[in-house]
Amino acid sequence: MAIIENENNLSTSAHDFIAEAGLPELLAGDGASHTARLDDVIAKSMSKEPLSLSETAVLLAAQRPQQIERIFDAARRLKRDVYGNRIVLFAPLYIGNDCTNDCVYCAFRRSNKGITRRTLGEEDIRSQVEALLNRGHKRLILVFGEHPSYTPDYIAQCMRQVYSIRAGRGEIRRVNINAAPMDHEGYAAVKAADIGTYQIFQETYHRQTYAKVHPPATRKGHYMWRLDGVARAIEADCVDVGIGALFGLYDWRYEVLGLVAHSRHLQKHYNVGPHTISFPRLRPAHGVTLDGLHTVDDESIKRAAAILRLAVPYAGSILTAREPPRLRREMMALGVSQIDAGSRIELGGYTEVGDAQVMEREQFELGDIRSLDEVTRQLLADGYTPSFCTACYRLGRTGERFMEFAIPGFIQQMCTPNALTTLCEYLVDYASEETRAAGEILIKAELEKLPHDRRKTELLDRLRRIRENDERDLYY
Ligand code: SAM
Ligand code: SF4
Repeated sequence: MAIIENENNLSTSAHDFIAEAGLPELLAGDGASHTARLDDVIAKSMSKEPLSLSETAVLLAAQRPQQIERIFDAARRLKRDVYGNRIVLFAPLYIGNDCTNDCVYCAFRRSNKGITRRTLGEEDIRSQVEALLNRGHKRLILVFGEHPSYTPDYIAQCMRQVYSIRAGRGEIRRVNINAAPMDHEGYAAVKAADIGTYQIFQETYHRQTYAKVHPPATRKGHYMWRLDGVARAIEADCVDVGIGALFGLYDWRYEVLGLVAHSRHLQKHYNVGPHTISFPRLRPAHGVTLDGLHTVDDESIKRAAAILRLAVPYAGSILTAREPPRLRREMMALGVSQIDAGSRIELGGYTEVGDAQVMEREQFELGDIRSLDEVTRQLLADGYTPSFCTACYRLGRTGERFMEFAIPGFIQQMCTPNALTTLCEYLVDYASEETRAAGEILIKAELEKLPHDRRKTELLDRLRRIRENDERDLYY
């Protein structure tokens, strides 16, 4: 296990780039000059160029309803023009909630004696994964507390087990991880087990707040170890990394700048930005009092999502089931590219609990516990293509999300066919009758938009092979 704060264990790029960036000054900038720059900044985003911190600050300063609507409109257009209408679906799987940290906002913190502690054994993992497969999931994120027993080798072993499980016609094709930051050697171990994305949330980029909510005598109390966590992952060849901030600990606008600064730092030093950005909002949790924190209202979280889409156009944007269905629906258009669905975050929750949430068993309360089938149907009704695609990572197209912009026709030739074939598999194998009917209409409409060429003929043949020959997992 790494000795934290030993500079030999940090990445080659480690330094406090947040302190250097001068975020308070950027947020205090001159309102009139910001207003004058708004259209130029939006135009730059629309040309798919990442924004600088001062340009992001211009978007954050917008206050008037018409200005905010211009930002929302631009985020919707960028999402539509660049990514199309695909939304990738995944589910979280909590493996263990033992934790030596004491994060004030989390039910799993060590001082919370009222929570049920548990680590899934091999049989438990099998039954949870089978339940997820039988609902149609193909992508999971495994979630761990921070504890000496959750070593990189143990995490890698859990990943290998998850990949090995089969149920019906299904298998998990991509395993992502959300766990404590590791040292280079640890990341190499999870890389060897075929990790998809390694996700670490900084929680807050504001150092004083970070110190307030993470006691210094804990591992997580080390701000730099965490800030540097995904850079070490990239150096150890885990090039798909996810960053995030827990909105509600400090001023949301500061966190947006922090996320943009983090993205720019990775881009500058490793020539690869974050694969995904998350903006989870604080939720009620067992034994947690949220008073005195920086509550973020619905309007502000929508602004945060839209501004992140515009500022880091090549990063995927994750909206979790922490948010309620109504808001998720509204936010979907503002640049979101991935959502979880049918999520349960109690340990063993996919088989052992009923429809209601059990607060003593979960990290926080979810806002959306609709089934995967219901969420899929809602997406279809709203004109999105639910996608279970995992092709890029399996074909070694990792760390290069930028490809979607750089290679002409990439989305039409790769992403759309892969989204439609994985949706077709879902409809045939798992969907309710109602969802299947809605899905078939969407597939037909999407096919009509494609030019008549060799690629389309091949796609039509793949869809036929899925339906008639029971073939699965055909991808570009
Ligand atoms: N223990 C690891 C860590 O802290 O990095 C793994 C992640 S933790 C199980 C997943 C994430 O849940 C945390 O990074 C935090 O952002 C989020 N979280 C914790 N408490 C929360 C709450 N009350 N509401 C919403 N999200 C919360
Ligand atoms: Fe432990 Fe993570 Fe919860 Fe902090 S957020 S108490 S590290 S599980």
